[in-house]
Amino acid sequence: MAEFENPYAEESPFARAHFDCPNCDGKLWEYAIQRQMVCEDCRSVFASEEIFDAQARAPTEA
Ligand SMILES: [Zn+2]
Repeated sequence: MAEFENPYAEESPFARAHFDCPNCDGKLWEYAIQRQMVCEDCRSVFASEEIFDAQARAPTEA
């Protein structure tokens, strides 16, 4: 009988992402599994792609 090892069991499922929350400027944390980010302050959840895309744009762009 095989034993399944959960690679996330001992490590934090969160990785701090270098992005700010679009809502409140809090720090976003990335779910390692679901490719989502959650804000540590307002608990908003965002798709990682969305955040990458939004913050990869030039800040001067209106
Ligand atoms: Zn927030």
